[in-house]
Amino acid sequence: MIVTEKKPINEIIENLERANAKSVHLFGCDTCAQQCKTGGEVELKEMTTLLTDKGFEVTGTSLVDETCYTQLAKREFRQKEELKGADAVLVLACGAGVKCVADSAEETQPILPALNSMFLTSVERVGKFYEGCSLCGNCVLADTGGICPHTDCPKSLLNGPCGGVDNGKCEVYTENDCAWVRIYDRLKEQGRLDIMTEFVPPKDHSVQGKPHKVLLR
Ligand code: SF4
Ligand code: SF4
Repeated sequence: MIVTEKKPINEIIENLERANAKSVHLFGCDTCAQQCKTGGEVELKEMTTLLTDKGFEVTGTSLVDETCYTQLAKREFRQKEELKGADAVLVLACGAGVKCVADSAEETQPILPALNSMFLTSVERVGKFYEGCSLCGNCVLADTGGICPHTDCPKSLLNGPCGGVDNGKCEVYTENDCAWVRIYDRLKEQGRLDIMTEFVPPKDHSVQGKPHKVLLR
């Protein structure tokens, strides 16, 4: 799941004005953005009121299960004249959702983001999110007791802690336990501390070349 936050309303209005949009269609997402309280039914209603009060015509709203699924966005464009006819579309979804809406629209129609995409999250419970993986493309969790040094250590160190550990706490985010202390403790519990004597080669950043594409057959 992708965590999103709302853009400031002033930025959204500025972007609408720069697109010369007097009318706007709102496009939400009933999965991640709904859970983040940034792009579900409630937020579509709030945005409708906000923009109407600012003098924009809101032509309608769309809410699909997954806005990051181009086929669902395309279906909305096929079925809704008010979506095709709006001066602009404001998308209350992550960047992948904005991209799918943009790929479904006519090239002449501006598609604008209402949210900032923040991170891939693990979900502890509804409304409680934490970053457990930063998509490095070369997972090392097998040797780190399931704790990600790439994500949980702010310096992304792969061969043990830096010199700043203070009583087991991280020197960068002092309220956090040092990721490498946690890794050490976990491997000790598992009787696998010998793993820590093995050198981990530098990350192969070439696997993060963008844009990624996968075609399963
Ligand atoms: S090492 Fe960390 S960032 Fe890389 S894939 Fe595994 S969990 Fe994700
Ligand atoms: S104290 Fe630990 S978690 Fe913090 S930056 Fe250093 S090694 Fe990484």
